Amino acid sequence: MKNWSGNVEFQDLAFLEPCSLQELQEVIRKNERIRVRGTAHCFNQLADTSSVSVNLARMPEVIEINEQVPSVTVLAGMTFGQLAPRINQAGWALSNLASLPHISIAGSVATGTHGSGITNQNLANQIISLNVVLEDGTLKKISKGDELFNPIVVGLGLGAIVYQYEMKIEKTFNIRQVIYEEISRIELQRNFESIMSAAYSVSYFTDWSNLGQGNLWCKFRSLEIIPESIAGSQKADQKQHPIPSVDPEACTDQLEIPGPWHERLPHFKLEFMPSVGNEIQSEYFVDIRDAADVISELEKIAAEIYPLLWISEIRTIAADNLWLSGSFQRNTAAIHFTWKKSDAIYPLIEKIEGLLSPFAYRPHWGKAFSAKSEYLKEVFPQIDDFKKVILGLDPSQKFSNDFTRDKLEFHQR
Ligand SMILES: Cc1cc2nc3c(=O)[nH]c(=O)nc-3n(C[C@H](O)[C@H](O)[C@H](O)COP(=O)(O)OP(=O)(O)OC[C@H]3O[C@@H](n4cnc5c(N)ncnc54)[C@H](O)[C@@H]3O)c2cc1C
Repeated sequence: MKNWSGNVEFQDLAFLEPCSLQELQEVIRKNERIRVRGTAHCFNQLADTSSVSVNLARMPEVIEINEQVPSVTVLAGMTFGQLAPRINQAGWALSNLASLPHISIAGSVATGTHGSGITNQNLANQIISLNVVLEDGTLKKISKGDELFNPIVVGLGLGAIVYQYEMKIEKTFNIRQVIYEEISRIELQRNFESIMSAAYSVSYFTDWSNLGQGNLWCKFRSLEIIPESIAGSQKADQKQHPIPSVDPEACTDQLEIPGPWHERLPHFKLEFMPSVGNEIQSEYFVDIRDAADVISELEKIAAEIYPLLWISEIRTIAADNLWLSGSFQRNTAAIHFTWKKSDAIYPLIEKIEGLLSPFAYRPHWGKAFSAKSEYLKEVFPQIDDFKKVILGLDPSQKFSNDFTRDKLEFHQR
């Protein structure tokens, strides 16, 4: 078994798919080590294990809307693609989504997965409470405001296995998607926050070529006014893929055609392969105020990035208080790289991390990065407290794997 990209071959002794909560409790009780996995879209060993892995997708589906809160209670192993059309049909929406609906809710929340939008937090901030199974098989509910909540929501699969979430919802809304072509990176640097605030959700795609430009993907909510031009750049009159050489069929509708939130906020449609497939991704979170300087640093090695890259995406994420979130207490600019699959990217990833370390970049937990535990401790200031919380919940580290033990410096037991 491999991850979605095929760059990680899983070492599982067994892959278990419990069909009920009781079965999940049983497998947790019986196994000395067990690692939970979602849809395996991570680009590193985060979801790997040399012991037993468990996946929740076969457990009975749960979608319970509570209009009073308003919230929806869901099975953690479901994908956004399974959930979103159902709540939309009932008149409700999630505030934001990632670029693809194929990923599991739990895997996304546990890694701090995000969409874009100057006022939008990452997807983990949609969680109101989580129901978990502890290492001894007992059940626990953790709600916003509880001491355990901020530590455990972006939890990297540690401490407990989440089987159910309660998520915030709002009334359903429409989005119109418009692309503004050929905005220069210099212009983006000059007016970063204002350009990235042009719509509810904004992504800037660039390939770092010496043309020095990129396309701005804007997702406007129903009442937002769509400008004729942004930073002097005009609206595209043809549908596009983020990677110009790829057929845009797989992309959600553009050209201002209104559609429900779940068919516009992701760039890619559920029924198609997202992105390009033959790829590895990495992504770095920096303070939004440093975005222009970070782009200047990357310009210095643009000629090295360009040949190894399919495309780069720059987004924004609002600050939060979730301990291992990439946007912990920092309004964030996210600089993402979709790399061509090649060993040559790894030295370049290290080089990029060297250039960005003065900006205290945080890596995306689910993407390829080389940062070591000493560095991670500096930029995620709550890591030591997180470890205490995890060891309190799971003293034998039943839910850990080599990757988390290495990156978080848990000592092997
Ligand atoms: C094509 C593509 C596009 C992407 N686009 C984006 C994007 O727009 N924004 C972004 O931020 N990321 C993006 N990602 C990265 C992706 O969101 C993360 O890798 C995410 O973790 C995927 O969820 P998953 O279910 O596949 O996680 P997995 O890889 O299966 O697992 C990830 C982590 O979640 C934990 N986990 C899984 N289930 C549970 C559970 N029930 N309880 C506790 N922990 C659990 C696992 O233990 C593991 O630590 C993209 C990835 C791909 C392949």
